Formats: sequence, structure tokens, C-alpha cells
Amino acid sequence: MKADVGSMTWRTGDDIGVSEYMLLTVEEGKRLIDCLEQEHELSIAEMAALIDANCPELRDYARIKARAIGDRQYGKNIYIRGLIEFTNYCKNDCYYCGIRCSNTKADRYRLSKEDIMACCREGKKLGFRTFVLQGGEDPYYTDDHIVDLIRQIRTDYPDCAITLSIGERERESYERFWKAGADRYLLRHETAAESHYQKLHPHNSSLKHRKQCLWNLKEIGYQTGCGFMVGSPGQTPEHLAEDFQFIRELQPEMVGIGPFIPHSDTPFAKEAQGSMELTLYLLSLLRIQQPDLLLPATTALTTIHPRGRELGIEAGANVVMPNLSPVGVRDKYALYDGKVCTGDEAAECRNCLERRVESVGYRIVVSRGDHCDVKLMES
Ligand code: SAH
Repeated sequence: MKADVGSMTWRTGDDIGVSEYMLLTVEEGKRLIDCLEQEHELSIAEMAALIDANCPELRDYARIKARAIGDRQYGKNIYIRGLIEFTNYCKNDCYYCGIRCSNTKADRYRLSKEDIMACCREGKKLGFRTFVLQGGEDPYYTDDHIVDLIRQIRTDYPDCAITLSIGERERESYERFWKAGADRYLLRHETAAESHYQKLHPHNSSLKHRKQCLWNLKEIGYQTGCGFMVGSPGQTPEHLAEDFQFIRELQPEMVGIGPFIPHSDTPFAKEAQGSMELTLYLLSLLRIQQPDLLLPATTALTTIHPRGRELGIEAGANVVMPNLSPVGVRDKYALYDGKVCTGDEAAECRNCLERRVESVGYRIVVSRGDHCDVKLMES
């Protein structure tokens, strides 16, 4: 009953003490999914077994449940975020990422404040009420720079949410950004397992610090997003089970997951791509474990399958994040090979998206699209 294992490394000995786990029948898998729905929690061994049992029957079972749960929580609404990729300079050297500092072939760029404000202007016209500022970890943009940007967007667009995705900074910096008016922060933890983190990053990167950043962001009050790649080199079902456990502890408002896709100028150029089926299955399991999540159908998912966004929504996602970056720089923000929509104007993307979302019975809403708890506080 096993299928679609993608690049996963299955059943290897591992350092978390679960080297052998149950082999599930489809019926047993369904019971574990029922249990996840009721308790919102499985043990690491159970979750690893459930993930390992990924097959069409269990994917269907999880998807139907996940979609019903998502509909109960957020209705047929799909939230959109305008993604502004404002710099591809990065001081980090993550082995999987195309904009890692060692990649001398990357054609580097930075957007000016004026460029960024022009993206927001265009985005506002197209119905975006969230702007996501994402970039490599680029020290050129000091805290003062970022604060100035946030203030400007806050002043010009008081009804829009501001999301940052600029990597690890000190708590004081996150506090300054928050006070300046940022609402949300995306920082994928990448993998919750220490040994796996070390396979994906050089020694000067620390999982402990990354997790601490996430805890700091939550404490300050940001709607916080963590997340991971699916099928990154060396990933096992136990690692993924640890991701689910970390997410249960952190209780983030958002979780971003997408398949790992190799980039030809990185050490992982020859590694296998993550599987779409497994990504969809995990989206459903995330929705079941934590019903209130804001869960994007990511660009990476669309990159490996032309209907990735629609399939993601059908699996339980309720957010899409199309690109608002100027067309001239889009293909330079190349985290992986083959990224989609790099040639389209923002307006074309917006129309295409509308059609795609409607084709599966959902609708794009013009709103900030906050997490449901935030709305409760406001009303
Ligand atoms: N510097 C920011 C933004 C990183 S880019 C930060 O540290 O948060 C956003 C995400 O793209 C990363 O967190 C990573 O999960 C994903 N990514 C990077 N390289 C990738 C690849 N080769 N395939 C798929 N996703 C990738």
C-alpha cells in the first residue's frame, strides 16, 4: 500500500529512538486520522507510521476530513497575500537554497523603498490587503531600514496587514518591527530535528536559535508562521513527525510547507525533488491536527504540478501568496529551479488565480485574512 515516496529516506536508523515503527493497514491509518481529528495529537511513533503509510486511500480520507474542517473554520474563503521579494542577497549558506551566499552565479538585486512602495500600490489596486516582505538575510537592510519601510506602508495602507519574512534577527529587532506596525512573521523552522537540520545547513546555523526566534515572535504578539520543506534530502517520516510535534507545541497561526525542489547551483543539485502527493497528504494532516491554521498552497507546489494550487486548496489549504515583485527581478529570486509565474505581471497572476480558485469551488476574498482568533479579538 505504499506509494509516492518521493525522495524520502525511509526507515533508516535514527537518533530519536524510533528506528522501527508500525506498518499500518489502511484501516489502521484511518483510525489514526480519526484520533488526530479528535485529540489533535498523535505520538511521534504513531505520526511517523501514519506518514509512512501515505497512499491514495489515506490521502483521500485525510483530504475529505481536512476540507470539511477547513470549511467549518474559514468557509469557502481563500485569502491572498502579495509577496514582495525585495532582496536576494543572503549571508546564510543553506545547502538547498539558490540564493545562498556561496552561489556566485546568482544575479543579486535589492529593491529600493520606492520600488517596494510601487509594488504595494499595484497590489492594493488588485485587491491585496496583506503585503509580505520576503528576502534573504541581507544586512544591508538594517533594523532602521526595515522600521522605516514598515512605517511607510502602515501610513499609506492603514487597512493592510504587513508580514515580514526576513529570517533570524534579535528579539529587540522583532520588537521594534512590531511597534512600527508589522503584524505577522514567517520563519520556516525547516526541520524540527537537530540531526536533520545539520544535514541541511552549515555549522554556523542553529536550529535552537531558529526555534527561539519563533518563540520570541509568538510572545511579542505576531501572527507567526513556521514550516518546512517536504522531501528535503535525508528527511524521514520520524523527522516529519517531529515537525508535527513542534507545530503542536508552538501553536503557530500559519504553517508554510512545500516540496523541496533542487537548484542546479547548490550542493543539493542532484537530489530528488519532494513528492507532491506527500505534500498534499501533509497539508491535510496539518489541517486536521490544527483546524484554525492559515495554510498556504505554496509556489513550490505549483512549480512541480500545474494544478498545485488547486490541489493544495482541495487538500486543506486556505491561503495563496502570488508574486507582487517587479517582473524584472522575479526570476532572480530563484530559491529552486523552474519557479513558476516569473514572467507574468501581477495583474495577470491575480486573474489567473481567481479562475483557478473558483474552479475548485472557492473564492478569493479582499480582506486582510487574519487568523480567526485575531478577528475575534477585534470584534
Ligand atoms: N530568509 C528568509 C526567507 C527564506 S526563503 C528566511 O530565512 O525565512 C523562504 C523559504 O523557501 C525557506 O524558508 C525554505 O523553506 C524555502 N526554500 C528554499 N530553498 C528551497 C528549495 N530548494 N526548494 C523548496 N523550497 C525552498
